[in-house]
Amino acid sequence: MSDFIKITSTDIPEINGSFSSHEELYKFSIEKPEEFWGPIARARLRWDKEFTKVMDCNMEKGVFDWFIGGKLNASVQCVDRHCEVDPDRIALIWEQDEPGKEQRITFRQLKEMVCKIANVLKSEGVRKSDRVVMYISISPLAVASMLACARIGAVHSVIFAGFSAEALASRIMDAGASVVITSDQSIRGGRLIELKKTVDAAVAKCPSVRRVLVARRTGNPVPIIEGRDVWLEEAMEAQSVECIPESMDSEDSLFMLYTSGSTGKPKGLVHSTAGYLLYASFTHKQVFDIRDGDIFACVADIGWITGHSYVVYGPLVNGITTVLFESHPAYPDHGRYWEMVQRIRPTQFYGAPTAIRLLLGHDSSYVTKYDRSSLRTLGSVGEPINHEAWQWYHEVVGKGKCDVVDTWWQTETGGICISPRPSAPGAEIRSAMPMRPLFGIAPVILDDKGNVLEGRDVSGALCIRKSWPGIARTVYGDHSRYYDTYFKPYPGYYFTGDGSIRMDGGDLDGYYHITGRMDDVINVSGHRLGTAEVEDALDEHFSVAESAVVGYPHDIKGEGVYAYIVLKEGVIQEHKQIIAELRSIVRTKIAGHAVPEIMQICPSLPKTRSGKIMRRILRKIAADQIEELGDVTTLADPSIIEYIIKNHRHCITKNL
Ligand code: AMP
Repeated sequence: MSDFIKITSTDIPEINGSFSSHEELYKFSIEKPEEFWGPIARARLRWDKEFTKVMDCNMEKGVFDWFIGGKLNASVQCVDRHCEVDPDRIALIWEQDEPGKEQRITFRQLKEMVCKIANVLKSEGVRKSDRVVMYISISPLAVASMLACARIGAVHSVIFAGFSAEALASRIMDAGASVVITSDQSIRGGRLIELKKTVDAAVAKCPSVRRVLVARRTGNPVPIIEGRDVWLEEAMEAQSVECIPESMDSEDSLFMLYTSGSTGKPKGLVHSTAGYLLYASFTHKQVFDIRDGDIFACVADIGWITGHSYVVYGPLVNGITTVLFESHPAYPDHGRYWEMVQRIRPTQFYGAPTAIRLLLGHDSSYVTKYDRSSLRTLGSVGEPINHEAWQWYHEVVGKGKCDVVDTWWQTETGGICISPRPSAPGAEIRSAMPMRPLFGIAPVILDDKGNVLEGRDVSGALCIRKSWPGIARTVYGDHSRYYDTYFKPYPGYYFTGDGSIRMDGGDLDGYYHITGRMDDVINVSGHRLGTAEVEDALDEHFSVAESAVVGYPHDIKGEGVYAYIVLKEGVIQEHKQIIAELRSIVRTKIAGHAVPEIMQICPSLPKTRSGKIMRRILRKIAADQIEELGDVTTLADPSIIEYIIKNHRHCITKNL
């Protein structure tokens, strides 16, 4: 008999130590990060050249180096290693939009696709550190294209395929990409989406783009521009199934991903090769208790960080089967997820609260008629999950038998930072909060003066006081923006932008509950949106003098977009028409999910005497919390409030 005693929910065999509890192991990971991460990185990644130093990080300056001197290739971690031992293992199960239709790809097939696309990219002159933009929905070719970039050391930048041509163009230009990979069309919930046409409109404004590689998804005819566009599958045919992987430095960029901040301009967050890969795969394994032979179903789109870390890199580094979900949770009916679960038999399911809220309003037989016995863990990601949704997930979907993990993290963090698991084996999980920091993550709560709040029952700004391998290294082309956003507000700490409460519970400092964004960022169906981006779009209308956009609680989307609009003097156009035009402008400039649900046209905005818009008041009115408006005496013109409240009621009833 072995005298091994399990102290943490999923073992970390690389750490030799005489720890007697999960809490002790956690403290070790914080106090001795080099001794914690060094052996894990050595064991879990394949190195062309081993690193000589684990870390050299400076939280004051926002400069991070992990696994210094190491060399490796990301695609080797994801495919070659598994191909060598078990080439016929299924790497990807593509759950296509058409109900019941799936495609399985082995590690051997995936490697061949990756190498062929890598060779296509090379033949197009793409070199190490060049940026390649992808505007494509989820498919094996999309995953292979990401890994193909990694194979030759190019930096992929996947743009969510719901963004408009203008939004795509601005990101292509910011990235300075010369190659774009897309598909003819995509299909979601039976609806065709014109990806190629959107790329054409975007690329017309981007002189840097020489080549557009087009994958076939629907096969419907799309315009092809002679000399610029090439069918991806045809180009692949001529290529070899071998491509020597580029040996990259640990700190070389693996990818960039645009996300919204509190200014109008989205930022391209850059992730490293070794640190990111290790953190994505480590957190995947420890949070979801990944075991050999598991099938992991994360239903996120690859256009977001969840798709990068937990559809592609985490599961593939760990050598398990990952599901690519192309469809919609309500297509062809509200049982789509669970019918898929019965057919594919995943061991974990990882989805967004917005989808859960959409489904729980429907008959539970959509869930219960399908066999869900393969599931061990249910995960929630991207936004706060409310108690009702959490309970439904736990009781109806999981029959009370699965761990439900509400995972808190961000595009910037690379992987999950706060989650109920890992923990002591079988430790309690409370409803609707992420609870426990991951190994290596040291959260702190600061008050508005920057003092660290100790103990339990405290609330303030959520910061992280120590570096971890997965932290984004910079904002592409604008390191000072990176520093100013994340490290300047609270010197010596990474500022998450979120508020948090540390509550009573557990053996460590307490449990973390997230209270929401503290900046002007809102979260619509898990899509992050800067209110300034929407305001910039609205202000482009010739009749608009100014606007203010806030979030308000929305039953399904979590947050909805609410816009207050002030028109220029003398505008005689009908309001209804202006609102229709504003909707169309936001759709064209940003994306469908950014279009305000409610638009209120008002004579002016509540401002302080120094001219600052009082957003706090506008947020309260949008949330219908009129009695909580607080002090309005500092306003330049308090009478405007009464008008806006009255008009707000009118807008809601009219559903403008
Ligand atoms: P993104 O970078 O687009 O994934 O958005 C990250 C933001 O989503 C965070 O800063 C939070 O505001 C929010 N978020 C993500 N996960 C959670 C969670 N589990 N609970 C509450 N908010 C979350």
